[in-house]
Amino acid sequence: MMRGLLAFVVLIGIVLGKETFEGHQVLRIVPKDDFQLSAIKKLEDIMKVELDFWREVSNVNTPVDVRVPVHSLPSVKRYLKTQNIKYSIMIKDLQAMLDEEQEEMKSAACVSELRNTDEFVYSGYHTLSEIYSFQDMLVAENPKLVSKIVIGLSFEGRPLNVLKFSTGGTNRPAIWIDTGIHSREWVTQASGTWFAKKIVTDYGRDPSLTAILNKMDIFLEIVTNPDGFAYTHSSDRLWLKTRKPNPGSNCIGVDPNRNWETGFGGPGSGGDPCYQTYRGPRPNSESEVRSIAAFVKSHDNFKAFITIHSYSQLLMYPFGYTRIPTPNRDVMNTLAQRAVTNLASLYGTQYKIGSIVDTINHVSGGSIDWAIFQHIRYSYNFELRDTGRFGFLLPADQIIPTARETWLALMTIMDHILKNPY
Ligand SMILES: [Zn+2]
Repeated sequence: MMRGLLAFVVLIGIVLGKETFEGHQVLRIVPKDDFQLSAIKKLEDIMKVELDFWREVSNVNTPVDVRVPVHSLPSVKRYLKTQNIKYSIMIKDLQAMLDEEQEEMKSAACVSELRNTDEFVYSGYHTLSEIYSFQDMLVAENPKLVSKIVIGLSFEGRPLNVLKFSTGGTNRPAIWIDTGIHSREWVTQASGTWFAKKIVTDYGRDPSLTAILNKMDIFLEIVTNPDGFAYTHSSDRLWLKTRKPNPGSNCIGVDPNRNWETGFGGPGSGGDPCYQTYRGPRPNSESEVRSIAAFVKSHDNFKAFITIHSYSQLLMYPFGYTRIPTPNRDVMNTLAQRAVTNLASLYGTQYKIGSIVDTINHVSGGSIDWAIFQHIRYSYNFELRDTGRFGFLLPADQIIPTARETWLALMTIMDHILKNPY
């Protein structure tokens, strides 16, 4: 009887519990010519719902990373073999890696003991409620420098919190930074948390940041997709989209970086709710996107719009929806070059730069293309560490190094705007 009950409880746990990735592998496929490239594209088209592309099909010699569920592994591997396409196994046992991450988290996080932002463990991954308490503590500790603005509510009713760093004035020139619009990119929310602490620590100490904050405001949205983020903790670590149901489909959510107005519905955005890149029924259909768009428009003095993703180590500028270059492409390219040079000066981490369409491929309905049309001259998309060894499951001991080096790039961009006002 006891045993039967126990088995029942375990079964319920599996049904209601977390998505498991037992036996899933992440394959790295490198197309060596156009034939292979189109064969991989074909695989993507046929199995788009089944496969999870961590790095999408782009160019010859550029790796494609794809998570393959255990039951699809034989057919995918067979297909690649018949097409003579070489691949390597990037992650052999995905679940084992996720278990390790969970163990690490248990040792890092203990919010009940968290009394102030000095005690916050920046070298660990945190839950949504921990990051929300962090934000409130930071505001309470630095009331003259930091405030919290709720720009809207997520689909499930969570606050969309933006931290405003300001030393006064009204409607000053401002920098927008968001992290975590794709919820599974955990190193980004973790880096955003570190940036917030870095700003309050350096103001009044670091001359460059002090000069920036004496003239400009910084707005930072750390958890840009809170429903998705909560879901990565509770149910599916690899969830990327929002959590809004799609009428007529069993698949949930919209890719919030395909839901912006500019280029909406173009190439590099999915029309099927079951695709990872599903753009949504119409531009701004997602509250998480609509709230930022409304906020940025109403503020009307943003000088830079920076969105932070992972992974691939890229610093990209518009456009994603068209091959036509932006009018200030050269200025943005030169600044990006300086930013990644400074980033590399710390640990040697190498970034590639370029427009989205040249670097990865078409992305339509992305936020940085939209920002350009709001008369924001500097608009960048970071893809943080790594280049694929761990992908979205970057070990926690890389959080602080990643945040530190990225900060140098952000400072380069902000400092340039301070010195070249427009
Ligand atoms: Zn992303």
